[in-house]
Amino acid sequence: MTFKAEYIWIDGTEPTAKLRSKTRVLADGAELPIWGFDGSSTNQADGHSSDRVLKPVFTCPDPIRGGDNVLVLCEVLDIDMTPHASNTRALLTEVAEKYADQESWFGIEQEYTFFKEGRPLGFPIGGFPAPQGGYYCGVGADEVFGRDVVEKHLDLCLEAGLKISGINAEVMPGQWEFQVGPAGPVEVSDHMWVARWLLYRVAEDFGIAATLDPKPAKGDWNGAGAHTNFSTKAMREGYDAIITACEALGEGDKPFEHVKQYGHGIEDRLTGHHETAPWNKYSYGVSDRGASVRIPWQVEVEKKGYIEDRRPNANVDPYVVTRLLVDTCCSALEK
Ligand code: ADP
Ligand code: MN
Ligand code: MN
Ligand code: MN
Ligand code: MN
Repeated sequence: MTFKAEYIWIDGTEPTAKLRSKTRVLADGAELPIWGFDGSSTNQADGHSSDRVLKPVFTCPDPIRGGDNVLVLCEVLDIDMTPHASNTRALLTEVAEKYADQESWFGIEQEYTFFKEGRPLGFPIGGFPAPQGGYYCGVGADEVFGRDVVEKHLDLCLEAGLKISGINAEVMPGQWEFQVGPAGPVEVSDHMWVARWLLYRVAEDFGIAATLDPKPAKGDWNGAGAHTNFSTKAMREGYDAIITACEALGEGDKPFEHVKQYGHGIEDRLTGHHETAPWNKYSYGVSDRGASVRIPWQVEVEKKGYIEDRRPNANVDPYVVTRLLVDTCCSALEK
């Protein structure tokens, strides 16, 4: 007997990497082998020496195919078995290891937008729906578009054993959010990439495309972000560490260093409107949805907890945002 392993990897598409996958049929009980692919078709190699290596790093049940079938998230390596230039997971694992004793946790809020026939789901042909106001966490066919896909995606993530922690309808029609976490930096990122793959995959069955475009509708419509909630053990135990982390994120060139790696097109989303802070001005504040970094009100009351970096775009690479936050905040907290 056999089972199917869906090998999933992150490609080298510029400016935003995309997910790719292909299927391997394996004999029952077989270990998941290292595999290869044509890197010249994914912007990860040129045609003359095109072979790239897929190294399995995270496996879970395949809730689409069911049975003994599995999803296999991979890192991309060169044929000398060193990480490929596009392999941001390898960079994260190093930094995560270095600061492992601080016990970082992350919860990432993934916003996304459904598209059908070239426009956001719920947008009428050649026009616009009613202005924003009633859609966020809405109910009813006049305000909610795509719930059947969203519910199916949630079930699939749970069946796969991913640490998905919630879903909600967003401010723009056709826009939704799911949250992954809390979990450590590598785990939350692996789960996020697989959850994204499942989203695209299940939407396919409904003839709908899901996009992480950070500004899918121009004009007076909310963009799509990936608010990244972050804590260390010290932050979960006391307020000084919370403030240290907020200050560290604002020091010197740090705001720019972070923002430029928080997803392509970030200037178009972080305008200072639509619940964002301007991309070029760092700020933090309690309950402030117009700040770069928000301290939730309960955290201020309890004098411990976590912070929310509101800047990352929906199209951010979770391996990158978690690495930057651990690197910047944990090095400051270590002092
Ligand atoms: P918002 O109020 O901004 O919409 P959400 O409820 O959508 O927030 O998401 C909050 C996320 O923060 C969840 O994924 C949750 O698991 C995560 N979270 C909760 N506590 C912590 C913590 N101590 N450290 C890191 N993440 C946390
Ligand atoms: Mn071929
Ligand atoms: Mn949220
Ligand atoms: Mn949201
Ligand atoms: Mn949020």
